[in-house]
Amino acid sequence: PTPLLQISDLRTRIGAVRAVDDVSFSVSANETFALLGESGCGKSMTALSIMRLLPEHGTIDAGAVLLEGRDLLALPEASMRAVRGGAIGMIFQEPMTSLNPVLSIGEQVGESLRRHRNLGGAALRAESIHLLNAVGLPDAARRISEYPFQLSGGMKQRVMIAMALAGNPRLLIADEPTTALDVTIQAQVLQLLRSIQRERGMGMLLITHDLGVVAEMADRVGVMYAGELVEIAPRDAFFDAPFHPYSRKLFAALPGRGQRGGALEVIPGMVPALDSAFVGCRFAQRCDAAFDLCRSETPAWTQLAQGHTVRCHLAPTGSRTAMPVPTTSV
Ligand code: SF4
Ligand code: MG
Repeated sequence: PTPLLQISDLRTRIGAVRAVDDVSFSVSANETFALLGESGCGKSMTALSIMRLLPEHGTIDAGAVLLEGRDLLALPEASMRAVRGGAIGMIFQEPMTSLNPVLSIGEQVGESLRRHRNLGGAALRAESIHLLNAVGLPDAARRISEYPFQLSGGMKQRVMIAMALAGNPRLLIADEPTTALDVTIQAQVLQLLRSIQRERGMGMLLITHDLGVVAEMADRVGVMYAGELVEIAPRDAFFDAPFHPYSRKLFAALPGRGQRGGALEVIPGMVPALDSAFVGCRFAQRCDAAFDLCRSETPAWTQLAQGHTVRCHLAPTGSRTAMPVPTTSV
């Protein structure tokens, strides 16, 4: 079956910086795929490339972004506008800045419904309340006449989720959806997202720097470092035996394995400047296991087990074929 979203060899530049480099992964219906990495690693730029909402000086140089087989990168802008908030819903980290302060909650949810579902009048109001109830906004019928400043951070994020669902999306992109919220509210919003994803059979692309969020939410995980994916694995395989030295550092940087809430500790060393023809492994400067080859040759993808692939010279070279081999615990 065709995956819901298939990204192939995506390459995005911001000015001269290779922000997303040869990134390929897929998301199926009913699946949550987490993109994990430190801030600045290219996770958000990947999401913005999918939506074609890059910042100034951002260009997509190569690749394909297939949504149900249709290449979004080849669509005219007018069709792309219908996809945003339609087939693809988006939720971002900052509900404060994402909601319009001068429009009521009802007007904002209503606007999404009008645009993508062609509803109006009493049906629009009823559907707005229905959606806000579905995302657990207390007292939705009254709240729709309130303004963003009257809502807590958690409630605002629920409103953002309602807006993202207004077009009945098949894919939801959630970029650090709970990072700005306190821990209790985070858990509630994650639970809401998970139940909505399951109920609707949506695919979800979840962007996070938080291993705890991955543990709780993801079916599969892709680890990004310096613009590249370096490891892709089913969640349990990843937590049992992360292979890439960067993935392993992410675990080592946690206060308690798998715990949520802690921002990742800074891993010593610098991310290389990617504005020139870079050779070798991008993690070499920070990798305890680096050896000569790492500085002269870019590692290729190696399959460790079914669905578990890694880009590192330490991976057994015998598995560089498509043949599944048992997961290696290091
Ligand atoms: Fe470390 Fe070399 Fe693997 Fe890169 S390729 S992660 S430098 S061991
Ligand atoms: Mg980001």
